[in-house]
Amino acid sequence: MNMQTRREFAKSCFYLSITGLSIPILSPFAGCKQRETSSSLTDLLDQPQNEVVKTARAAKIDSNFEPAYLKLHHSGELKKRGQMLWDIMQNCQLCPRECGVDRIAGEKGFCGASAQLEISSYHPHFGEERPLVGKGGSGTIFFSNCGLRCVFCINWEISQGGEGTARSIENMAGMMLYLQKIGCHNINVVTPTHYSAHIILALDMAAAKGLRLPLVYNTCGWERLEILKTLDGIVDIYLPDFKYSDGKMAAKYSSEAESYVEATQAALLEMQRQVGTAKPAPDGLMYRGLMIRHLVMPNDVSGTKQVVEWIAENLPKDTYLNIMSQYRPMYKAFDYPEISRRLTQQEYSQSVKWAKQAGLTNLEIQGSPF
Ligand code: SF4
Repeated sequence: MNMQTRREFAKSCFYLSITGLSIPILSPFAGCKQRETSSSLTDLLDQPQNEVVKTARAAKIDSNFEPAYLKLHHSGELKKRGQMLWDIMQNCQLCPRECGVDRIAGEKGFCGASAQLEISSYHPHFGEERPLVGKGGSGTIFFSNCGLRCVFCINWEISQGGEGTARSIENMAGMMLYLQKIGCHNINVVTPTHYSAHIILALDMAAAKGLRLPLVYNTCGWERLEILKTLDGIVDIYLPDFKYSDGKMAAKYSSEAESYVEATQAALLEMQRQVGTAKPAPDGLMYRGLMIRHLVMPNDVSGTKQVVEWIAENLPKDTYLNIMSQYRPMYKAFDYPEISRRLTQQEYSQSVKWAKQAGLTNLEIQGSPF
């Protein structure tokens, strides 16, 4: 996830304040019959059928665009897939940690999540890649907890610090409709893996009420192939990180995730198979495809040369790659001298050079943060 500037954050808060949306206390599970104490977000789910068409038409996207999940929603398959993912939580294998805990019974896995959905925030985000932001912003939903748990995580309070609020799936569906209503161009689920079941079930509810925005799956890249296959035909845009080229580095800085490299490489191939190469539409917005992010780290901890060479050799040369320069030491990074400083201009320039030498042609090169 890109860093949000103070100005962007203020803009997001402004949107929330003008719409007067409150943050309700919610029931724990989807399908649960408990009533929510406030219905401000779920009002959007209660709209009559003739309003649904209006909601869909109001989306600030190409009117001919149809999100991938819509067909599966109409056939009933979307709900089925959500239920399949939900059942996996009984012996949780949703991410490569494969903890095997029973989240439905209330147990928490390595990621810190039980079956209770927890969301930190939802708002238009203006700090994401340009084709996702457009004029109305990317409609981000930030989930609490994380299965990868990096020592340098910029959002550690949310991913590892327990920050967030308990929500229902119905409420998340309301958020999706709200983000569409205020003019966002996509639904961008950030750190989604451990809540993939909740997301698909919410998407199914929101689709029934007029959601038509593309779904952006904004992940650390460390995914199980079996789970990704369940998302085939649901996700429109995959936005994975490719953080390391050496499993030892992943193990050291991302909580023993030694399988990061091979799991992420397999995941990228599967994502490419599902959604293809990302190309912005004539309106400048992205509607479909694979968009990869690589955060360059100091002292080449990220193994950038090998990362870009692997992409060039295994994916189309015009694969969208954002070479990110904004690393800054956060959280536990100060315990590791080699990553306890920012990147130098030279390190970043060298990374871009490697990507060009590898033959990659669709690079997002960032302005100088140095
Ligand atoms: S999603 Fe959480 S509980 Fe499930 S396997 Fe991953 S870390 Fe474990």
